[in-house]
Amino acid sequence: MSSGCLFCQIVEGAVPCDEVYSDEEFLAFRDINPQAPTHILIIPKKHIARINDAEADDAELLGRMMLKANDIAESNALAEDGFRYIINSGVDGGQSVYHIHLHICGGRQMMWPPG
Ligand code: 5GP
Ligand code: ZN
Repeated sequence: MSSGCLFCQIVEGAVPCDEVYSDEEFLAFRDINPQAPTHILIIPKKHIARINDAEADDAELLGRMMLKANDIAESNALAEDGFRYIINSGVDGGQSVYHIHLHICGGRQMMWPPG
């Protein structure tokens, strides 16, 4: 828990969310400002500010987060037509909440290049 971190406050239950999945390690919830028909964020409950702040000890946690995202994509009917995973990092990456989160976006054709 990092005081002042919005997503830690969501993990703690101090800020409400539209929960999709929760276990000991991860929480997934719907993005408050969805950019696609389905837009879910999955976060580790452990506070890590940016993906590039992750350390060797976090490797398995991050691997499990990717596999859990696959389960969530499947259970939200995204697996067949496809989806996009996004992790923004830092200012140029467009990160606005400094607690690692993987965006799971789907339900429409995604465009490339991103903005
Ligand atoms: P970032 O820009 O850091 O990659 O993504 C942060 C995401 O968190 C944004 O898509 C934003 O809409 C979402 N977000 C910000 N505040 C809240 C909140 O209080 N609740 C939820 N569910 N999503 C939030
Ligand atoms: Zn946090």
